[in-house]
Amino acid sequence: MSSRITVIIVRALGLSGATWFNLVLGNHDEAMALGPPARILDLPAKDAGEACFVHRERCDFWPAFLRERDHRGRFFEDIAASTGKRILVVNYPPRELIEREIDGRGFRILTVRLVRDGRAVLFSRMRHYGTLTPGTAIHHIVDWQIPVWDRVDRKLTSVPSPAALTVRYEDMLLDGAKELARVGDFVGIRYGENATRFWERPQHLTAGNTGVIDLLCRLQGETGHHNRRADTYARMAEELSVDPERTFLDESWIDSLSREDRLAFDCLLGERNALYGYPRDSFLDGERHEFLRDLDRRLTEARAVEQPGRDDNAAAVPSGLGRLSRFLSHKRAQ
Ligand SMILES: [Zn+2]
Repeated sequence: MSSRITVIIVRALGLSGATWFNLVLGNHDEAMALGPPARILDLPAKDAGEACFVHRERCDFWPAFLRERDHRGRFFEDIAASTGKRILVVNYPPRELIEREIDGRGFRILTVRLVRDGRAVLFSRMRHYGTLTPGTAIHHIVDWQIPVWDRVDRKLTSVPSPAALTVRYEDMLLDGAKELARVGDFVGIRYGENATRFWERPQHLTAGNTGVIDLLCRLQGETGHHNRRADTYARMAEELSVDPERTFLDESWIDSLSREDRLAFDCLLGERNALYGYPRDSFLDGERHEFLRDLDRRLTEARAVEQPGRDDNAAAVPSGLGRLSRFLSHKRAQ
């Protein structure tokens, strides 16, 4: 491997296992997992003791690194020089950060699109917000899932295909060795047999999914990290310490996502989800048409309330409804 720095940018649709995936990719002699980098890149040196979410003030990397100098404008070069790692893995860096720290610096930039069945993602989101009442999925789909999906699609259209790879979260969990061999070919390295045991080497995440960071801390004998599902992650840590090959594919959405919410998902995102090989739910055409007609009616009523006399002005309605309105116009035009 040449000394040229490789930056792997992981783009995911949220709640798709990106923190875990980042830790697994970082589990290699040449690589370092940084997770979402926005926080650490602009963290003032005075907060250096709080930089690492795994070791806190006892961290043997970040505090010394951050106090050494101002790394802005040369962050990745400095990390590579300081750690000897040539492959730096980040999750969804903001655009301004890419412009400042990644573009035009001679790095090799690779993008991995991490996907997960959108219904599992939707269910996780609803559970996270405590809104599992049937009929509420539509709000999460319109206000969050569609815009995030659009944003990732837009970002990836400008990446030439040899520099981009799509990985399914479920495949990583069910056949990690095979998927890691594929990722390794893409990056130009070989992952070891135990690479999915991300806790078996030092990791210094400074942001990311708090549950996964909690799991990492527990498996490394650290205190843990505050998160809403601490009991679940404590149980996982116990099971992994007995059987490190154990995998946890959360499929609770299959039994728990209501038929009504699955219909909403199928009508609005089913086709897009199927592009990644996730089979669609079966509904009758009549059910789908009825759903879209009902949605259209609700939208028209909502617009009339928001903008009396201006019921054609989709741009003037609240953002989620505006997006939905444009989406329905697009569907009708197809
Ligand atoms: Zn640390």
